[in-house]
Amino acid sequence: MSLTKRILLAMVLGLAVGILLNISRDLLAQTVNSWIDEFVIHGLFDTIGRIFVASLKLLVVPLVFISLVCGASQLGGNARMGAMAAKTLTLYMATTALAIGLALTVGHLIQPGQDIGLGEAVNFTPQEAPPLKEVVVDIFPSNPFKAMADGNMLQVIVFSLLMGIAVANCGETGKRVSAIFHDMNTVTMKMVSILMDLAPYGIFCLLAKLFSELGADAILELSKYFFTVVLVLLMHGLLIYGLLLKLLAGINPIDFFRHLKELVIFAFSTASSNATLPITLRTAEEKLGVDNRIASFTVPLGATINMDGTAIMQGVATAFIAQAYQVDIGLSGYLTVILTATLASVGTAGVPGVGLITLAMVLQQVGLPVEGIAMIIGVDRLLDMLRTAVNVTGDSMVSLVVAKSEDSWDEAVFNQRD
Ligand code: ASP
Repeated sequence: MSLTKRILLAMVLGLAVGILLNISRDLLAQTVNSWIDEFVIHGLFDTIGRIFVASLKLLVVPLVFISLVCGASQLGGNARMGAMAAKTLTLYMATTALAIGLALTVGHLIQPGQDIGLGEAVNFTPQEAPPLKEVVVDIFPSNPFKAMADGNMLQVIVFSLLMGIAVANCGETGKRVSAIFHDMNTVTMKMVSILMDLAPYGIFCLLAKLFSELGADAILELSKYFFTVVLVLLMHGLLIYGLLLKLLAGINPIDFFRHLKELVIFAFSTASSNATLPITLRTAEEKLGVDNRIASFTVPLGATINMDGTAIMQGVATAFIAQAYQVDIGLSGYLTVILTATLASVGTAGVPGVGLITLAMVLQQVGLPVEGIAMIIGVDRLLDMLRTAVNVTGDSMVSLVVAKSEDSWDEAVFNQRD
């Protein structure tokens, strides 16, 4: 069976087993339930699932470092590099602003927060938003090893870029170093392939555990909010990305989505753009045909700063909370939300649940009660999985558009059937 089929099967089985375990809770005796909980869900599934996510994360820092040194050393710090970076950043910011604008509009039309009872005050302590100056200063590392140990992706990107540019400008020495990095890149990519072979087991366990614990009640109660977010995620992920791809690069969106099946399942099961990064990079290079020079920069940057799915949740959540508390934030409020949510996604890593933390910043900025977050927390886990899938789709779409415009797209690779 092909890997894609095995991954799809693992997802379906994981969902089925999880839901079955969830339903059977009420039917089984207490002792059987606690046995399943202890040995199967929190024993077997949790152990394998966590080892799987850890192994994915293990590859992130070496992969970004090695791959970006390779990419930057080929670009060599020339003017094209600046143009490519500017294009990437503009597209990431613009698509995020578009996403949140769409979410606010649909949230305004559907009014998911109308007639919602303001539940009892639940504890939610917001984090302080760091000042913008600190966010900017923090992009520049003072210690590359610390940056790597902390998994601070923007700092790792800055260090790798600098090193790559230096390698390009070191003549013969640079060529030797570059050759070593290229060899190491082949080896790390091989590690990703090995891991992908084992991934179906990890995906099965992650999904079975999650769905065995997911409360369907919360989704029913908050169905209007939940489905509004899902609707906007679908509109943005399929229509807007499809349209942008066609308009900006003249590429058939159907073929693009066909290549993303595995990637989307990885993002969905881990709920983390960061942990999915090795797969996003592999998909960009080996399926979409994006040259390493482009992908090694756009993909890690996207995993860190481009979170369209997250922005969508924040847009709908802001509209929802404003409606529930019957506060009119006005046009300037909406614009502030767009600006804050776009900026908030820069500098916050793509890890599970981070979207809720940045949502607190957005709410504070427009003067909405941060406690409102407590109302939507119940359904956030599932939405987190869905929006992460949109986040990585956005990273892939922008990588492809930039590659096409930079003449760094291998159409033959893209046209290959899986
Ligand atoms: N889990 C998301 C990601 O990693 C971030 C979030 O929305 O919380 O992309």
